[in-house]
Amino acid sequence: MPELRCRVCKKLTRPGEEFFPFCSKRCKMVDLGAWVDERYRICGFPLLPPEEAARSVRKDDIDPEATGDLPAASPAPEDAPR
Ligand SMILES: [Zn+2]
Repeated sequence: MPELRCRVCKKLTRPGEEFFPFCSKRCKMVDLGAWVDERYRICGFPLLPPEEAARSVRKDDIDPEATGDLPAASPAPEDAPR
């Protein structure tokens, strides 16, 4: 039987232990956190948050003249160069 060691602190662990393959809950959480962090770094973040992405898709489906119930996105008069 090969020796199994905690991936975080390298302490020996045995199958059947509560937090196997980690030696303790703390090490399990450390490894889980590291894995999640790694995954986020690999995938990166979407250019737009989900809400923004959904809104930009929906914009194409809606007739501009039929969006009277949505707040107008026109800039303030001071910002419009004339
Ligand atoms: Zn450990």
